Amino acid sequence: MEAITIIGGGIAGLALAAGLDPQRFDVTVHEQRPGTPTVETSLAMWPEAQSALAVLGILPEIRKVAARFGAMALRDGAGKVWVSPEVRGVIGVSRPDLIRLLDAAVPRSVHRVAGRVEDIPATGPLASGLLVGADGVHSTVRRAFWGAPADATLTPYLALRGVLPEPVDPDSGGEYWGKGKLFGITPAAGGTYWYASFRSDLGPAGVDVAEALSRTRERFSGGAGAIRKVLESATPQATLAQRIWTVPALAGYVRPGAVLVGDAGHGMTPNLGRGACEALVDAVTLAELLNSESAPEALKAYNKQRIVRTQLLRLVSSAMTRLALAERAQPLRDRLLRIATQRSPAGAVGRS
Ligand SMILES: Cc1cc2nc3c(=O)[nH]c(=O)nc-3n(C[C@H](O)[C@H](O)[C@H](O)COP(=O)(O)OP(=O)(O)OC[C@H]3O[C@@H](n4cnc5c(N)ncnc54)[C@H](O)[C@@H]3O)c2cc1C
Repeated sequence: MEAITIIGGGIAGLALAAGLDPQRFDVTVHEQRPGTPTVETSLAMWPEAQSALAVLGILPEIRKVAARFGAMALRDGAGKVWVSPEVRGVIGVSRPDLIRLLDAAVPRSVHRVAGRVEDIPATGPLASGLLVGADGVHSTVRRAFWGAPADATLTPYLALRGVLPEPVDPDSGGEYWGKGKLFGITPAAGGTYWYASFRSDLGPAGVDVAEALSRTRERFSGGAGAIRKVLESATPQATLAQRIWTVPALAGYVRPGAVLVGDAGHGMTPNLGRGACEALVDAVTLAELLNSESAPEALKAYNKQRIVRTQLLRLVSSAMTRLALAERAQPLRDRLLRIATQRSPAGAVGRS
């Protein structure tokens, strides 16, 4: 049996453990988080990610607990709709549900080690076999093999999100782009998923959620009524607040003895809703290659198949963040969007 040690039992790590052939690999997963995430949030799952979930055999279960997106309006800060394209094939999945179903798909033969891996020693069990960094944006594996220049970069943005039990009012859903702030309201299986983002000096670690929520209410106090209504119902207990970090551009995800999957390799701003989707595709691609080819060939092919797309998404996502959260350029952005959406068919603008 070939040994594979996965650091991180989040979306990427669990999906990889679920996809590896248990007849061929002796797999160990190290995870620091006790149990499933406690605050309910939702993840947009694009078709490629759903195909990855189908490979793991859990798409039917996911679909049972997912919310469907209809039209997704893009609005100005006051709530006026610029464009409202149909979002075909995208579903909203609760993060705790996704983690629970991925966890249940992991074969019993996989060893689970609870606790944080602080560093990667040069000898010992972690140094034998293949080491997989599935340990997110602050990856210990990336630090050990790629060095300090690849450490995560702090963005100036704070993100808050939560799920409310009330369903989305069809007239208020979508994403609101204001001056240096954005707010989203979408359907979620348990009701309504909301998220907000703007510049903030809170954190970077251990953001005080009550303070973040209070600042969010202030930031959106003069804006659209639908946003104020959502924020009135939001509570610190049902809200997650964190600063956004990203991973610098990497030229490759493979080093002798180690490979990166998910945010560990390409942690990006959340504005395209792609990070978890790409983490799933990474994991399933790597598992399928390792199951069918020699390790060196599999790792080479994995890098080739995943690097360009994911690095491109990193860049596009960061450009999208600058556009959505534009401050000085906001009047120009709004004017251009108004012109573009008046002149083009809704579908074309939505797709672009
Ligand atoms: C506000 C926001 C909204 C988002 N919305 C979407 C969306 O709609 N759609 C989408 O596709 N993506 C979205 N994302 C991105 C998505 O959350 C991430 O891309 C995804 O969680 C990455 O999965 P991962 O498994 O690579 O990393 P993580 O989810 O970070 O998992 C890493 C795991 O490793 C564990 N770990 C870390 N270090 C260690 C260690 N040293 N030892 C042991 N365990 C360790 C952690 O506890 C964690 O469980 C969003 C992100 C944010 C911040």
